[in-house]
Amino acid sequence: MVKPNLTNLRGALLAQQAAVESSLPPMSSPLQPRLDRAMSSLTIPPPACMLRPLEVPLRYLFGPGPSNVPPRILAAGARPIIGHLHPEMYEVMNDIKKGIQYAFQTQNNMTMAMSGSGHAAMECAVFNVVEPGESVLVAVNGIWGERVAEIAERMGASVHTIVKAPGGVFTNEDIEKALAKHKPVLFFLTHGESSAGLVHPVDGIGDLCRKHNTLFLVDTVASLGAAPIFMDQQNVDILYTGSQKALNAPPGTAPISFNERACRKMFNRKTKPVSYLFDMSHLSNYWGNDGKSARQYHHTGPVSGFFALRESLAILAEMGLEESWRHHKEVAEYFWAGLEDMGLQLFIPDKDLRLPSVTTITIPEGYNWRELLQYMMQHHQIEMTGGLGPSVDKVIRVGLMGYNCQKRNADLALAALADALRKCKKSKA
Ligand SMILES: *Cc1c(COP(=O)(O)O)cnc(C)c1O
Repeated sequence: MVKPNLTNLRGALLAQQAAVESSLPPMSSPLQPRLDRAMSSLTIPPPACMLRPLEVPLRYLFGPGPSNVPPRILAAGARPIIGHLHPEMYEVMNDIKKGIQYAFQTQNNMTMAMSGSGHAAMECAVFNVVEPGESVLVAVNGIWGERVAEIAERMGASVHTIVKAPGGVFTNEDIEKALAKHKPVLFFLTHGESSAGLVHPVDGIGDLCRKHNTLFLVDTVASLGAAPIFMDQQNVDILYTGSQKALNAPPGTAPISFNERACRKMFNRKTKPVSYLFDMSHLSNYWGNDGKSARQYHHTGPVSGFFALRESLAILAEMGLEESWRHHKEVAEYFWAGLEDMGLQLFIPDKDLRLPSVTTITIPEGYNWRELLQYMMQHHQIEMTGGLGPSVDKVIRVGLMGYNCQKRNADLALAALADALRKCKKSKA
């Protein structure tokens, strides 16, 4: 892998800029005079901002996503567009499917990438396997459970929750009790709870779900590639992730996979899913998963986004999943030790339950976390973020994912935090 330093990033951006500039109209045909055309029928003139070039700052994205995209993936996304129904595009999609099967450790045929961010996969999973009125059980220990509960509520499911404080862990007994009580068709759990910095154990839960005739849905948006998950071996029925976290692709695509149990449920429903765009009977054809020889037009997939996603899955395959997990753990442990040396407290006390891709730091007493974050952005060009949902005002979150997961970046983050703690005086509160 290319080392993620600012020089590499800058080089990639300069190359991009040169390509853009060479395609700009010559200065002898400026757009400005068109503004003054007297006889225009338009009442809204071209906005001045649109006559200025795009400016995007160079930043270290050490929040919980998106993370910095390595030049190789940027370059893949910048390839010329081909048609979404060209045979070469089907090849790219077939490759993506194989890459996801590897990353998820599954042989599921019904594997694809959603045209949309992680939320598209969340909605796709719930919309396709649940019918209005059916019971859904959601484990809530941070924002992602809250979101899935709301998604299920909106489509008319009967939603039940088991709730813990952010970062709380559910025992398999907690879960089985709730499965027996609510008899849900679907149980949702977040593997990498990025609002709390927790990686939740998954072993045994899939078996409990089978016993209770429930589908087991797991969110690995923040953990895929950073912490071990074995879709087939752990009996996960539906698994999804996102493109912009440890996979390091731009946001906008989301891998998802359904096993045979999940397919049986979703293809034998009485009502149609509420979303046309996310209807798996159409998507399975678009991805060549339904056994038919022809793929029909359903929607136009994000061609550039798929090129980039393919490249990010290729990088993961080249590195190897186990090496990627080991590497994230090693850099995370190095970072955690540095934080503790500075006197900071980690929000998840148990090392084995900490998410290696997103670290949560308890806000040091007396400090205003917004001031700390602003200071680091302004003086170090480093993004870190506060909490989300129930973890707001409780934590600062630092993501070192994929390409960004390097000891050198951990050092940058530690130095920025130390500087911010020195400069942002404690409030008197
Ligand atoms: C980021 C994230 C999501 C949402 O993904 P989007 O791409 O922002 O829609 C879902 N689940 C988890 C655990 C996440 O970290």
